[in-house]
Amino acid sequence: MNRITELFNIQYPIIQAGMIWCSPWQLAAAVSNAGGLGIIGSGSMYPEILREHVEKCKVATDKPFAVNLPLLYPNIEEHVQTIIEYNVPVVFTSAGNPKTWTKKLQEHGIKVVHVVSSAKFAMKAEAAGCDAVVAEGFEAGGHNGREETTSLVLIPHAVESVQIPVIAAGGIGSGKAMLAAMALGAEGVQIGSRFAATQESSAHESFKQAIVEAKEGDTELTLKELVPVRLIKNTFYQQVQSAYNNNATNEELAELLGRGRAKKGMFEGDLEEGELEIGQVAAMINDVKPATEVFNDILSEFKEAKAQLSSNNFVF
Ligand code: NDP
Repeated sequence: MNRITELFNIQYPIIQAGMIWCSPWQLAAAVSNAGGLGIIGSGSMYPEILREHVEKCKVATDKPFAVNLPLLYPNIEEHVQTIIEYNVPVVFTSAGNPKTWTKKLQEHGIKVVHVVSSAKFAMKAEAAGCDAVVAEGFEAGGHNGREETTSLVLIPHAVESVQIPVIAAGGIGSGKAMLAAMALGAEGVQIGSRFAATQESSAHESFKQAIVEAKEGDTELTLKELVPVRLIKNTFYQQVQSAYNNNATNEELAELLGRGRAKKGMFEGDLEEGELEIGQVAAMINDVKPATEVFNDILSEFKEAKAQLSSNNFVF
């Protein structure tokens, strides 16, 4: 037991990220049933779709699960209403000011965790009353910080800066990486990319294959002027690079990005023109398997690595 397992009332401090287009009720329920915390990614769901996913998740598991709420989501009030109505026990907020919704959610007994990319924002989340923070490093897929702080630097800095528990994210896809994050002071890990390539993920099969095929250096953090995002370097990415080479303005970049790029890539499987948000750790993902198998592999590798570390006989 630690503060994270107690806070969420779960068995293991392994949290599956609420990724847009990839985190449906099937994935959240599988991870929660395995003893971790599954998260439904509501950023890509219209209000009635989130309602359906929460209803189905409640049927599929009697364990706690969460909803990820990007704070810049246009119909956020309706999402909040659904979360409260269905007594969703935990909410992970991201991409916005944690002051806005934290108190209201907590008044309904909901635990609130905010995702940050710097120690400074971890302190802001603590000041806003959040129960914990996710410190997400440069390696992570999707939306990210402009500072490019790697997990190795961010996690201990965040841990030093706040009293509330820190959950590590960014570059974690294995039990060894989980152990390393916990050695840095994290009390739990949030894992995205590895769970995007599972059978229960709602990502398009072509995107899942693209994750499996991704190699070292195949992703990059770009579009920092708009919303910084780590994605696979495909045709769309090349178009962004050409725009940069031609000194594109922010308006021109926004026009190039357009609307629904992420859906096109991750959900509809357009690997050329779509936005394919995934972390650096994709280079180490070699298969698509059931989420429970991924979860159990991480857990057993964590235990093995921990035992290995203590038997290394490294004496000071
Ligand atoms: P875009 O503006 O490019 O497109 C909006 C997309 O969201 C469309 O594909 C649309 O689906 C879907 N959508 C779902 N609900 C609504 C709604 N109520 N109103 C309008 N569109 C809706 O945005 P992105 O695809 O880049 O991002 C979508 C959401 O995900 C945003 O809320 C964003 O903040 C969030 N996000 C959060 C991340 C994070 O927190 N780390 C990472 C990436 C995105 P359709 O095409 O079917 O209309």
